[in-house]
Amino acid sequence: MCSPRDSGLSMAAVRMMTRSRSWGPGAAPRRGGEEAAPLQRREAAAEGKKNPSLAKRQRKTQKLKVAYEAPGHEKGESHKALEALGWEPQDWRQQLENIRTMRSGKDAPVDWLGVEHCHDPSAPPKVQRYQVLLSLMLSSQTKDQVTAGAMQRLRAHGLTVDSILQTDDATLGSLIYPVGFWRSKVKYIKQTSAILQQRYGGDIPASVAELVALPGVGPKMAHLAMAVAWGTVSGIAVDTHVHRIANRLRWTRTTTTSPEKTRAALEEWLPRELWGEINGLLVGFGQQTCLPVRPRCGACLNRSLCPAAQSP
Ligand code: SF4
Repeated sequence: MCSPRDSGLSMAAVRMMTRSRSWGPGAAPRRGGEEAAPLQRREAAAEGKKNPSLAKRQRKTQKLKVAYEAPGHEKGESHKALEALGWEPQDWRQQLENIRTMRSGKDAPVDWLGVEHCHDPSAPPKVQRYQVLLSLMLSSQTKDQVTAGAMQRLRAHGLTVDSILQTDDATLGSLIYPVGFWRSKVKYIKQTSAILQQRYGGDIPASVAELVALPGVGPKMAHLAMAVAWGTVSGIAVDTHVHRIANRLRWTRTTTTSPEKTRAALEEWLPRELWGEINGLLVGFGQQTCLPVRPRCGACLNRSLCPAAQSP
């Protein structure tokens, strides 16, 4: 299991959860991440001339609209836009404060086994960032405890881009089993690692658009990678817990049918300075109190404010 003590990132991660911007492991001041993008684009353009299919993929990536990275989308602007429309969830500030109170013990699985705690803090910064991305890829449809176990085995085996590319699929599968969809993840990990080696010098890209273009990397993983690996809050990371709880509390104007729609709905009104806090806060709340089935409403401070509260 990953221990908070063995993670040099844990404090940075805590800061990430409580501040809108902070720096990740070994990340140079944020300019470093932002400046990497033009370099990567130049290299990618050169590669595209040699490889038409790659150029096609790049054009597709460039067309991807990433609303959460829109220029000028600075602190508070989205909130002001929704305020202008006159909508925000009823009682959300009190509900949020209640959740903070319920989560003050920081004793949910995500608090000690989450992605912030599974990389090797003594590894070179770009290796740490690769390990952060790998743990995110493993974590989808998988409990934190299972992801942490797989990461521990991978670290013991050697968890760098080169070592993973030199590992045969059967061995990689045995190392990550029983994470959810492990067979597909073996394929995605190999493909993504090859791209990182070829295009990013073994590092991970520093933008959401480039991250979601990697095989097996979705928007939630990309936003968490930006926050944990690069120290930049690029959007709200919405997983199944955040999606469920936001709908139960009516934090979306209308019921949303997917985590991506929930992310967009939350970013319309939630002040940007809170975006980095929401994922860890609600994931732990969902693990301990607002469970998927039979939520513990009787023990929830929001029971008198929650439209979905169930009788004990
Ligand atoms: S009252 Fe029940 S459904 Fe509502 S937030 Fe609390 S645990 Fe979840």
